Amino acid sequence: MRGKIGIIRALLYYRYGFLFVNFFKHLGIEYLLSPKTNRELIDLGVKNSSSEVCLPLKVACGHLLYLKDKVDYLFVPKIIYPYGRLYTCPKMMGLPTIALYLCGKEKVISPTIKGNFFLPLFFLGLKFRKNPLKIVSAYLKARRKEEKKELVFDNKNLKIAIISHFYNIYDEEIGSFLIETFKKEGFSVYLKDDLDEKILKRKEGFAKNIRWAFERELYNAFKYYLDKVDGICFFFSFACGPDSLIGEMMAKEAKEKGIPFLTIIFDEHSGKEGIITRIEAFCEMIKRKKR
Ligand code: SF4
Repeated sequence: MRGKIGIIRALLYYRYGFLFVNFFKHLGIEYLLSPKTNRELIDLGVKNSSSEVCLPLKVACGHLLYLKDKVDYLFVPKIIYPYGRLYTCPKMMGLPTIALYLCGKEKVISPTIKGNFFLPLFFLGLKFRKNPLKIVSAYLKARRKEEKKELVFDNKNLKIAIISHFYNIYDEEIGSFLIETFKKEGFSVYLKDDLDEKILKRKEGFAKNIRWAFERELYNAFKYYLDKVDGICFFFSFACGPDSLIGEMMAKEAKEKGIPFLTIIFDEHSGKEGIITRIEAFCEMIKRKKR
């Protein structure tokens, strides 16, 4: 196979993008990464997807359509479980099928990943390059990532933990402004993905009942931060079943512990101003409680 591969800057890109992009780069395969999410991409995704799905999935559709006529192939892996037999959500698993309908069967490359990333990428690499050693070497180089620094709490400021999926909070058009808003209010901000994998993957207590990989991470981050911060903000998309369920559990536990808990549900119609006003009111309430 020859040609340019498109990679969407959405959903699992914010967790596995470094691996995918670098794998193609080290193999010398031309690729195109879609731009950062913007209003046009959101509108494109919303217009071309079912109103039933969550905003992150609609955003992913916008990115797919942006790339559709600019590349020869679209790389949309089907990640059934990223590790430990813990599943991704059904809507996420359905993205490759949505991509087939939106962009055409011949364009979509969709290796199935069940815990092991190496083999599906290796066989995909073989379609583009003949030398297996080069493919192994590209994978080994691509998967190198920086070690996370140990988390240090800043006790001078009030502390807030934002619990949200990586594709919500790191997408500048969707959720990154939450971080800035809390900082402007004088809070130190802690995110789920600041935590070490060992904490996020823990199986203790209620977490062992959660069979969705990324929901377990959300819940474990919540449990970790619960007695270390002054407030918790849970930020998730309308129409997200798994998050609604976990959100209920977290809100209940935070209430029992007396920790201020703010739930923000967003969709394509949510205005940033309205969310910022709610955050300001929440911060004021925490400050008063402290005083
Ligand atoms: S976990 Fe929720 S937000 Fe994420 S893809 Fe599934 S339904 Fe959408």
